Amino acid sequence: MNPLIAPLVALSLLAGETCAQASNEIRISSAGSQPSVKGAAENFTGTVRVDGLFKGDHPARIGGGTVTFEPGARTAWHTHPLGQTLIVTAGVGYVQQEGGPRQEIHPGDIVWIPPQTRHWHGATAANGMTHIAIAEAQDGKAVTWAEKVSEAQYEGASVAAQKVVASQTVTHTQPASDTLSAKQQTIPLIAAFMSASDMPTLNVALNQGLDAGLTVSEAKEILTQLYAYVGFPRSLNALTELMNVVEARKQRGIHDAPGREPSRAIPTGEALLAAGTANQTRISGGPVKGPVFDFAPVINQFLQAHLFGDIFERDNLDWQSRELATVGALAATPGAESQLRSHMRASMRVGLSAEQLRQVSEVLAERGDELSAKRASTALTQALSASGG
Ligand code: MN
Repeated sequence: MNPLIAPLVALSLLAGETCAQASNEIRISSAGSQPSVKGAAENFTGTVRVDGLFKGDHPARIGGGTVTFEPGARTAWHTHPLGQTLIVTAGVGYVQQEGGPRQEIHPGDIVWIPPQTRHWHGATAANGMTHIAIAEAQDGKAVTWAEKVSEAQYEGASVAAQKVVASQTVTHTQPASDTLSAKQQTIPLIAAFMSASDMPTLNVALNQGLDAGLTVSEAKEILTQLYAYVGFPRSLNALTELMNVVEARKQRGIHDAPGREPSRAIPTGEALLAAGTANQTRISGGPVKGPVFDFAPVINQFLQAHLFGDIFERDNLDWQSRELATVGALAATPGAESQLRSHMRASMRVGLSAEQLRQVSEVLAERGDELSAKRASTALTQALSASGG
């Protein structure tokens, strides 16, 4: 470090953190040497206790503690500049990323929350939960707090009740990342080849997806959801291909993770229509209407109750993956340019960044076909210019 600025840095560290003196000695903070502290009322709902707060010495940026949530207790919505890791040590809890499903977590589970991703974590209504939380600080800050998680949001299942808050919170969604993970990259490819009925290449993409960590359940869900966009025949053919791929891999000694079934019951009747309408409103950025829906109202009823209800209420595939699949399928469908444009905007509403969507067309150009890649990049450019971004 520049010797001229070193004393300044030391001074600022002392001012902010009493325990941040650099040392070459190993330090043991004995159990019981620091009292438990209560989670601040403005950042948590319910009773939360924090034990064993720790912080590495400069230049280390690591810090954290053990957090115990009583039943019903949870954090407010928040982000971490460099992400966060949670290791669940007791009880049953929830973690939810904005735009995604509420997911249940159990002892032994390790949760990675990407940088700048709005989320909350806490206990279930019936059980307490304890996790170790670890995050790196950026410019001395490891968390940015936002508003409390409402009862409706915490309940998760009653998506319809989130309708009102959705329009306020979705606009605040931070892009999760600038790049797609290896697993995410395979989703638009699988979708595009399925949509084009290109079975040999779909086979390759499904293998790549499973190699990259896609579970069998997620792969099934992608190919099932897409029947709503490209029809039952292509969906059934692609599911047959997936079945053969999984069987062939088993013969080769590869045991792919089965993944899981949806964790909650899908509502029915009026509740299903309400949940689906709320999901549609959230993903579309506002209530969906137009002359064609006045002309043929039943199509919107099917969109709401079935596509955004029956299908999108299934939480075994997150919404970012669902949008990546839809974008891939529509990019490979000539004539669906206006829908592709809408889904580029929807992708950004569920937290995908413009850079990640640009990567979709790059991946399609490299590993798919030029025309699909071109449609994707044109749609993204138009979506961005329409939103002033
Ligand atoms: Mn967190």
